[in-house]
Amino acid sequence: MSSPVQDNSQRYPYRSWVEVSRPQIAANFRAIREVVGPDIEVMPVVKADAYRHGAVEVSRTLEREGARWLAVSNTEEGIALREAGIQTRILVMADFLPFTREAMIASDLTPVIHSFADLCELDRLAQARGKRLKYHLKIDSGMGRLGVRADAPAIAQAIVDAKGAELEGLMTHFASAADYGSTQTAEQLKLFENTAAGLANAGIHPAFLHLSSTIPVAYARRAAWGRMVRPGHAIYGYVSPARGHAPGRVLNVKPALTWRASVLSVKDIPVGALIGYGGMFRAPHDMRVAVLAAGYADGIPHRLSNKGSVIAKGKLAPMLGAVSMDLTVIDVSHVPDIAVGDAVTLLGREGNISIDAQQMARAAGTISYGVLCGIHARVKRIYV
Ligand SMILES: *Cc1c(COP(=O)(O)O)cnc(C)c1O
Repeated sequence: MSSPVQDNSQRYPYRSWVEVSRPQIAANFRAIREVVGPDIEVMPVVKADAYRHGAVEVSRTLEREGARWLAVSNTEEGIALREAGIQTRILVMADFLPFTREAMIASDLTPVIHSFADLCELDRLAQARGKRLKYHLKIDSGMGRLGVRADAPAIAQAIVDAKGAELEGLMTHFASAADYGSTQTAEQLKLFENTAAGLANAGIHPAFLHLSSTIPVAYARRAAWGRMVRPGHAIYGYVSPARGHAPGRVLNVKPALTWRASVLSVKDIPVGALIGYGGMFRAPHDMRVAVLAAGYADGIPHRLSNKGSVIAKGKLAPMLGAVSMDLTVIDVSHVPDIAVGDAVTLLGREGNISIDAQQMARAAGTISYGVLCGIHARVKRIYV
């Protein structure tokens, strides 16, 4: 209360929690729609529990905002959305495993097909049901991961042969979209365009061509927008920095998630005292430390040991020693009024200091996606 810094976050009775702003998710979605315009479908990616923002709540928010498509990674994620009442189309981007196909079809999920063998399987399932099943076909244009690697005539033949299945989308995924010093994206784009042109020559015109995740949208690589884009990161408020001579960013989004943790203990330690496993930190002078009720089991990267910082009452407070499984020690020598039960900010803003997932990732030697996806399920989700 004596702190001059306005703490605008509310505290909740949890050891550690994230606050996800539904209005910010909605605003990020609208910003993407505005950038690509009304003729291009925006299909938000809500895989991995919406990058840990909570797929059900995020999907409800997006559906209310008018999203007609959502993308998930696997059947289980799609079923969870159906069970929550989500009625948009749902594209399953990385599944079609033999043991999930029946459930995928039963829940009205749309598969991405990655191989001719899978296309035959889908055709067989469709014939058995006497009903045409829609699919999106993925081309491996150079990512070297999922997708068909074949020339256009072979692909056209496979599509025609699968009479029970209906090609609705043709897609690919870029390996180096953020690297403007690389020609890989241009090469992938060319290969994809050639394939699409070859299919068009054979009279095959899928409704949706789609290639772009967040980066090609944010840096306006319009040639790669097709008829649909698949942003994930940007929905949550992030755009990774580009390398090389990148054009200016055309997309403005903001993080939708704040991550906080409670102070479990505050104490004074004398000069020379060691802190945490391995005695990785030795106090260079008398200090006041706070022990946070969150550790690497909650998703604080262990690599932040002796490196990371949190925001405590509006001030940066460095992590001391090793991040433990359930606990993290911070220096609060300069935050004398912090008390047990107060909350600190791991990701988010207090006053004019902020830490986002990209900064945390840089300090931990990982990527912002990894930081977000690392926030453990035991961290409570609160929607504001
Ligand atoms: C995860 C994913 C996306 C979304 O990527 P972002 O970088 O988060 O926008 C798009 N397409 C595919 C195939 C993906 O796997």
